[in-house]
Amino acid sequence: MRFTPRNVRSRLTLWYVLVLASLLALYAGIASLFLFLSLREDFDHNLLQDLEIVEGMLAKEPNGLLSLHSSHLDAGEPRIGHFIEVRSPEGSLLYRSASLEGQALGGPAGRGEGERDPTPTTIRLPNGTRARLASSVYYIEDQRVVVRVAYDEERLWRELGEFGQVLLLGFPIAVLLAGVGGYALARKALAPIDSMAVQAKKISADKLGDRLSIENSEDELGKLGTVFNAMLGRLQAAFDQLRRFTADASHELRTPLTAIRSVGEVALQDQRSPAEYRDVIGSMLEEVDRLTRLAESLLALSRADAGHVPLQREDISLVHLAKEASSVVEVLAEEKRQQIDVQGEAYLLVSVDRLILRQAVVNLLDNAIKYSPAGSRILVRVQRGGEKQVFLDVIDQGPGIPSEHQAHVFDRFYRVDKARTREWGGAGLGLSISRWAVEALGGDITLRSKDGQGSTFRVSLPVANDSPANPLKGGPQ
Ligand code: ADP
Repeated sequence: MRFTPRNVRSRLTLWYVLVLASLLALYAGIASLFLFLSLREDFDHNLLQDLEIVEGMLAKEPNGLLSLHSSHLDAGEPRIGHFIEVRSPEGSLLYRSASLEGQALGGPAGRGEGERDPTPTTIRLPNGTRARLASSVYYIEDQRVVVRVAYDEERLWRELGEFGQVLLLGFPIAVLLAGVGGYALARKALAPIDSMAVQAKKISADKLGDRLSIENSEDELGKLGTVFNAMLGRLQAAFDQLRRFTADASHELRTPLTAIRSVGEVALQDQRSPAEYRDVIGSMLEEVDRLTRLAESLLALSRADAGHVPLQREDISLVHLAKEASSVVEVLAEEKRQQIDVQGEAYLLVSVDRLILRQAVVNLLDNAIKYSPAGSRILVRVQRGGEKQVFLDVIDQGPGIPSEHQAHVFDRFYRVDKARTREWGGAGLGLSISRWAVEALGGDITLRSKDGQGSTFRVSLPVANDSPANPLKGGPQ
C-alpha cells in the first residue's frame, strides 16, 4: 500500500526529510571511505618503514635460523600489533614472531615474492584476523630471505566502526531536527493558503463583493490570490448583469401584461357593441405583439449569451444586404412617409452570417424610422474604410442622442426617454442585439450624434478576402 500523507505540509516535510536523509547517508558513506583510505595510507607508510627496520634487526643464529636483535634497532621497537615472518626462498620458516601464536603469515612464499617494490595487501590469518602485509627480499649474511611484516588491520576497522557509530547516533537526531524544522517551515510558508481558504469559504453568491486579503502580491501565493480576486470580480459583474437583466426583463414583461389585463377588465364591466369589442381585442393584440417581440429579443440575447448561435458565413455584398434590410422595414417607413436610400458599391463583400447581420441593420433602420420625424430621409451608405474595413452607416434626421446617453444606448434595456420610447414599442434591447450581432461577426458598431442633428450608427466589418481590390466604378448596385 502506498503511503501518501493527506496534506501538502506533511508531504513537503516527508520529501524534505527523505532528501536530507539520503544526502546525509551519502555524505556519511563518502566521509567514512575517505577516513578509511587516509588511515590506511598512514598504516601502509608505517608498515613499509617497519619492514626496513625489521630487516636491520635480523641476525643469523648458529643453528641456521634467524632471531630479532633489539640492539640493532635504529628506529625503536617495531610497533605493537605487528607480525613478522621470515622464510627462505624455498619456503622453509626461518623466523616467526611470538605475536603470530604459531599461525602462518600468508602461507608459503610465492614465486618472485618481495622482489619488486613492496606493496601492502590485506590478508586473513588462520584465526580470521585481518592483517595488512608487506614483504621484501633481503640478504642476511649472504643468505637470501623473504621478510614479511604485517599489521593487525582490525584496529583500523575498529576506528572506522567507531566513526560510523558516532555518525549513526547523530543521524536520527539530524533527521528529527530536519523534520521538525521542515514542518515548521512548510507550515509558515503555507499559512497564507490556509487563511485564503478560510476567507474563500465565507464568500457566497450574495457576498461576491468580498475579496481575499493579499499580503505580498509579488510572490506566488499573492499572484494566486490576485487571480482569484480578478475571477471573483468577473463573477460579480456577471451576476450583477444577470440580476439586472432578470429584473428589467420581468419589469418589461409586466407592463404589457398589466395593460392587457386592465383593458380586458374595463371591457367586461359593461355591455359593449361588437365594434367596441373589436377595438378592445385590437389593443390587446397590440400588447401581445409587443410581448412577442420582447420575448423574441430576450430569447435572441440569452442564446447569444450562451454562445449557442452558430454562424453560417458566406461572402455577400454589403449593399445588397442593406437593401434587403430596408425592404423589411419599408412598410414602417411608408407609414411615416419616410424615404430610405441605400448607396454604395455592390462589389464590397463581407464574410458574414446573412440573417444575423440583417437583423442588426434592421434594428438600426427600425430605430431611425421610429425616432425620426415623419417625411424625413434615412440614408444607408456603404463604403470602404481603409484597406481592411467596410463601413455601413445608417444616417437619420431624427432628434439625435444627447452625449451623456451615447455611451449607454447599447446597454440592455437602456432607453433615452423611457416614457416616450415605450409608446413606440421599444424595450431598449434593439441596439444591444445589433451590437452583439456585429461583434459576433468580428466587427464593431459606433454612434456619432449631436443633440438635434440626427444620428449616424456606423457598422465596421472586415472586408472579405474575395472582395475585389479595384473598385468597379458604376458596377451593380
Ligand atoms: P428601443 O427598442 O427602445 O429602440 P434600442 O436599444 O434600439 O431600444 O435603443 C435604445 C435607445 O436609444 C432608444 O430607446 C432611444 O432612446 C435611443 N435611440 C436609438 N436609436 C436612435 C435614433 N436613431 N435616434 C434617436 N434615438 C435613438
